[in-house]
Amino acid sequence: PQKKQQNDGGKKQTKLGLECSKDVDYSAWYSDVIQKAEMIEYYPISGCYVLRPWSYAIWEFIQQFFDREIKKLGVKNCYFPMFVSKSVLEKEKTHIADFAPEVAWVTRAGESELAEPIAIRPTSETVMYPSFAKWIKSHRDLPIKLNQWCNVVRWEFKHPTPFLRTREFLWQEGHTAYHVKEDAEAEVFKICDLYAAVYTDLLAIPVIKGRKSEKEKFAGGDFTTTVEAYVPVNGRGIQGATSHHLGRNFSKMFDISYEDPINAGEKCLAWQNSWGLSTRTIGAVVMIHGDDNGLVLPPRVASVQVIVIPVGITAKTSDEVRTELYSKAKELSVALLNVEIRAEEDSRDHYTAGWKFNHWELKGVPIRLEFGPKDLANNQAVAVIRHSGEKRTVSLNGINDTIKTMLDEIHDAMYKKIEKCRDENMITCTNWSEFTPALDQKKIILSPFCGEPACEDRIKNDSTRDEPAGAGVSAMGAKTLCIPLQQPSQELPKQCIHPKCENVSKFFALFGRSY
Ligand code: AMP
Repeated sequence: PQKKQQNDGGKKQTKLGLECSKDVDYSAWYSDVIQKAEMIEYYPISGCYVLRPWSYAIWEFIQQFFDREIKKLGVKNCYFPMFVSKSVLEKEKTHIADFAPEVAWVTRAGESELAEPIAIRPTSETVMYPSFAKWIKSHRDLPIKLNQWCNVVRWEFKHPTPFLRTREFLWQEGHTAYHVKEDAEAEVFKICDLYAAVYTDLLAIPVIKGRKSEKEKFAGGDFTTTVEAYVPVNGRGIQGATSHHLGRNFSKMFDISYEDPINAGEKCLAWQNSWGLSTRTIGAVVMIHGDDNGLVLPPRVASVQVIVIPVGITAKTSDEVRTELYSKAKELSVALLNVEIRAEEDSRDHYTAGWKFNHWELKGVPIRLEFGPKDLANNQAVAVIRHSGEKRTVSLNGINDTIKTMLDEIHDAMYKKIEKCRDENMITCTNWSEFTPALDQKKIILSPFCGEPACEDRIKNDSTRDEPAGAGVSAMGAKTLCIPLQQPSQELPKQCIHPKCENVSKFFALFGRSY
């Protein structure tokens, strides 16, 4: 396609980058965007993908931010092996029951069968906690706050989607142990806040903080907190990241115990947490912000925030003017780089300006700064804003400050746009007959709920369609995305949303079709 566009040149072709529209077929659109924006290379093993520099850079920005924040909390990084023996993996029964179908096993080395198969970590509670048991001999050894940046493998059978649901993914997993339950619980919410900040402050995506229902919580834990985002194009919810309080379930099974500092001779078990954020974040960015021209990067995670492109160069342009334009482009991008704005100039002579516009638009660069001979004469350039298409003439005097402010404005505008759309599509529903039709209209729904897993199963079943109600709409049933920490201000009705439920409702839960 690049070749074709190059020959076509010119602005008219800028829409030709993607083959399908987001609204018509979002899944074909998604696959097209991530390849043409050079984020992903497909790989012969299902559910596994190559993360190219353009997407990996987003992960690096998230890592930098989150790593800095958790270090302020006293968390230290470490690395544990990716393999775990069968007997250790199976120690916490509820935990493994949930993960078992997705665990990948190594059964052979070369030609010889292993005496006991070895699992590849789907998450590292069971990998790490035998060491915790060795290290924690007294309450003075607590708290322990560890984190690792690593890959995990979950052999998912649901349809894989790059970034959003993959069989190998990158994440961070924090694992902490406390003497005091309240301290552990406070950390769960603190981390949940940091996850929310990753979405709101870096990715320009609004999220709803909440607890997971009994059915949806982390297997083996006491409770799970989550941040949930809304995907406008298909009305689905997406679990952004989760922070779990494990209670004493794992410390019991792994004997993470020490002498009670108050009652001599008595044993204490540590209170534990685990929390994880994955490369799913990148998929959320693509799905939520992208448009028919391609990727739209939120400025704070864009590896190129400003692309400087000289324009108005034709066959008739003198070498002198051409050189002047190119050197001005270089000068501008260096000046921006010097004030920590990630700028690059595109002075490739063998591509037309139109081709370059198309290319950088597809890759989602937040600002394109273009200028031709006339602009230079007027000491100005034109800034084109990716997410809105808006063009602004900007003076070259004070351009560094102008661009800095503009990047923050872009972040805020992108956030507000999604927030407005999310708020318009988040409804309160207390009447079951309106529930599934609302799902079909791509809503996420706040409804009174009793919290019982059996009732959640029934709600899911009874909101499943035999066939999608329309193009771009899923037929799947609803599950709880979360029980929002901030409950709606209206009074909670007694009746749970499912008309056959005989329990009283306990809270408003947020329901939706989900990733
Ligand atoms: P969990 O340990 O299941 O709570 O997962 C932690 C986080 O990892 C979740 O909140 C998801 O955002 C993310 N995640 C879970 N499964 C996948 C997957 N198959 N691909 C990418 N990210 C995932």
